[in-house]
Amino acid sequence: MSLDVTPNQRPAPTRNMEQIVSLCKRRGYMFQNSEIYGGCNGFWDYGPLGVELKRNIKDAWWHDMVTSHNDMEVLPGAPAIYSMTGIDSTIIMHPQVWKCSGHYDLFHDFMVDCRESKKRYRHDQIVGRWVQAKGKRIFATTQTSEQELEQLERQAMKFFKLRAKNKEQMEWDGDVIALVDLDAEHHESVLAPDAKTLDTLTEPREFNLMFKTTIGALGGENDAAFLRPETAQGIFVNFKNVIDSTRFRLPLGIAQTGKSFRNEITPRNFTFRSREFEQMEIEFFCHPDASGDWYRFWRDRRMQWYQDLGLSADRLILREHAASELAHYSIGTADIEYAFPFLPTGEYGELEGVSHRGDFDLRSHMEGKLTKELELELGEDGKPKHRGSGKDLSYRDDLTNEKFVPHVIEPSAGADRAALAFLCEAYCEDQAPDEKGKMQTRTVMRLHPRLAPIKAAIFPLVKKDGMPEVAKKIYLDLKKHFNVFYDDKGAVGRRYRRQDEAGTPYCITVDGQSLDDQTVTIRDRDSLKQSRVSIDECVAAIQEGLASQ
Ligand code: ATP
Repeated sequence: MSLDVTPNQRPAPTRNMEQIVSLCKRRGYMFQNSEIYGGCNGFWDYGPLGVELKRNIKDAWWHDMVTSHNDMEVLPGAPAIYSMTGIDSTIIMHPQVWKCSGHYDLFHDFMVDCRESKKRYRHDQIVGRWVQAKGKRIFATTQTSEQELEQLERQAMKFFKLRAKNKEQMEWDGDVIALVDLDAEHHESVLAPDAKTLDTLTEPREFNLMFKTTIGALGGENDAAFLRPETAQGIFVNFKNVIDSTRFRLPLGIAQTGKSFRNEITPRNFTFRSREFEQMEIEFFCHPDASGDWYRFWRDRRMQWYQDLGLSADRLILREHAASELAHYSIGTADIEYAFPFLPTGEYGELEGVSHRGDFDLRSHMEGKLTKELELELGEDGKPKHRGSGKDLSYRDDLTNEKFVPHVIEPSAGADRAALAFLCEAYCEDQAPDEKGKMQTRTVMRLHPRLAPIKAAIFPLVKKDGMPEVAKKIYLDLKKHFNVFYDDKGAVGRRYRRQDEAGTPYCITVDGQSLDDQTVTIRDRDSLKQSRVSIDECVAAIQEGLASQ
């Protein structure tokens, strides 16, 4: 018995970020961390629905990339057969890892402080425009955001003490430009994003994004360690261990998911830029001669993955970095970007970066920190600035006997950014009949069934006549197979609406007829169609329905 599932005719998702954020809190997808104490900026907690969603994303990624990977046949678009495996390394690693990887010296942003508002900004995220009124010309600024221009206008009006009706007195000059592009001699004219007077920003200062901690009780500077800012390095330092302890040959991808930490100067846009987040990274080791083909394969494969799980191709772009942006050893980097609703139209935010890293990382851990020209970086004393492990991390092909340092392709994704993109894409308002058949607006999360936190909800129509007993039995049967939810509170229409907001693909209702003929209705979240299915066939029907999308 199969469900009557109409192909998912998706109305355009609602692109209103405030509504999405409010639903996330109301329904338990995400909460501000330590909220009862006023929150901790840049940290987010996942609630009962959010934890399932994020787990489903990570499981789908691990399943699709690692465990279900077909290593017996050449995949479409791939240059050859390849293997995949995984590891789980620690968050705190030997401090030398970050010295050789370059993060210790180079992983920083420039920040500026405002002496007046005491606020801190990332230098590259301030934009501004020249404006003149009352005989004074200033460079009004704001942080890059959707309301960029309105905010600039408000900022300038406040400075010139103008009311809205007199805003025409301001003459704007030139385009909005980044503060970093403003010539230094104009800094006296800069009005900081939250200041009332001019020239309150400090000079830009470097700020390392790694969280520092101490190993052991004594804790001198020599015991300083860092929370990892990416999971990738755990894979590089274990490359040799994986090769030596398994029978894998190259090409081989090693995957890892886990927490990463970056002390971002301006965390914002909900969970998009957080200070603690989860990554899903693959380091794909291959022969240097084939690395260009592998780079293109991975770039396209990862782009397709997001679409297979429901992100619309119209809202995704693959942005190839210009040759001038690339490190000299790299032949390509592409960012997979999504049109998040909090960004201005035409702008995209990074979901994942796919980069060709050459042999930079393995060689750095062998020899010591390398320059972009792949030469050993020397300190003032002419000695290597940061010494490598001295271990041989090259690979010997047992068939050809060739020995080489593998090249690496790195598809590096963020689980939290993926969760946010799937939530933004899923949020939708449409018209659905209520119990009396009257059309009402409903909010529905059209999450892909693989990602939906709850796969089916089970309701007795009323709490009497033996219906709860039948419904509870179905619930316990289904629970062995899926994450399901039992609800017997309130009008059934309202129960449907709650499940629509939770993104639950199917609602099963036990009614009077169920007691006579052992059937139930199964309602499809998207098409709203109801099918009558025998109780014995419920599991199979849901299984089939979930698999058909
Ligand atoms: P951005 O330019 O947005 O700071 P990035 O280029 O520094 O990102 P990578 O170092 O390539 O990011 O990290 C890989 C992935 O990890 C990103 O594509 C993103 O999905 C995720 N990620 C990175 N920084 C954050 C963060 N602060 N919060 C949430 N996810 C992040």
